[in-house]
Amino acid sequence: MNLTNISEIKPLMERHGFSFSKSLGQNFLINAAIPVKIAESCGVGPEDTVLEIGPGIGCLTKELVQRAKRVISVEIDKKLIPVLEETVGEFGNVTVINEDILNVDIAALCEKLGCKELYVCANLPYYITTPIIMKLLECDAPIKSITVMVQKELAQRFCSKPNTAEYGSVTASINYRAEVKNLFTVSPGSFMPAPKVSSSVIRLDIVPPPVAVKDESVFFRVIRAAFAMRRKTLSNNLANEFKISKAEATEIIKNCGYSETVRGEALSIFDYAKLADGICGD
Ligand code: SAM
Repeated sequence: MNLTNISEIKPLMERHGFSFSKSLGQNFLINAAIPVKIAESCGVGPEDTVLEIGPGIGCLTKELVQRAKRVISVEIDKKLIPVLEETVGEFGNVTVINEDILNVDIAALCEKLGCKELYVCANLPYYITTPIIMKLLECDAPIKSITVMVQKELAQRFCSKPNTAEYGSVTASINYRAEVKNLFTVSPGSFMPAPKVSSSVIRLDIVPPPVAVKDESVFFRVIRAAFAMRRKTLSNNLANEFKISKAEATEIIKNCGYSETVRGEALSIFDYAKLADGICGD
């Protein structure tokens, strides 16, 4: 079955009583070239394991199972499970998990599977792009790369530099963990139903952190806090997050060599590393 052909997938969905849920970000690909291009871009080979987030009716899954050793597809919508059984069940190397990806312990899953290197590949549900990316960046799973379709605007933000309007906490976290590439753009007409926005496929290649920190969780908290309220100064945001006085936060910022009026968007990951270590103390 061609899983991007409307005249084939409409009867499939009807047979299973499936209707699109806007709140679950269900925009399925109907341009046959795109799942192929995404699967190719993720670089997965016959010895590799891939985690797919949100398989939908399985058009990308089908491309991944033909390239990878094993595909684990996590789909929140239970109505899609019998559909996937029909569309990709015949492949022996795919496991569909009916779960919210945000509740999946990816590190434990890899351990259970004996997986030493994990590729992530997905056409993401846009309403939770950022939490998913942050989860993938912060989890302890042996992730090698993350190839995902996201809103075009977010892709631009993820590739932005400090001191620009697009730069934010996710960009800073991405810069710590990965090298990011903006691969290609996909127009709304490639989806059913068509979203209002254009999309881009990006790839994050996980690399060793370019800077050492005393405590990674503190480092990520500092980044998140710095952008929590963009109108507030960094010292206010740090004081809030770490339950310290504004004077203490200002002292830490000054000890790191920054002005007390500095704002989060002006700082690189090297600056955040200094601040996080300053908060950890000796
Ligand atoms: N991969 C399919 C494609 O490219 O046509 C579908 C992509 S669609 C943009 C996003 C998919 O993610 C939907 O199937 C949706 O049900 C699923 N989804 C939404 N929220 C999810 C979550 N929290 N965990 C896992 N899957 C989720």
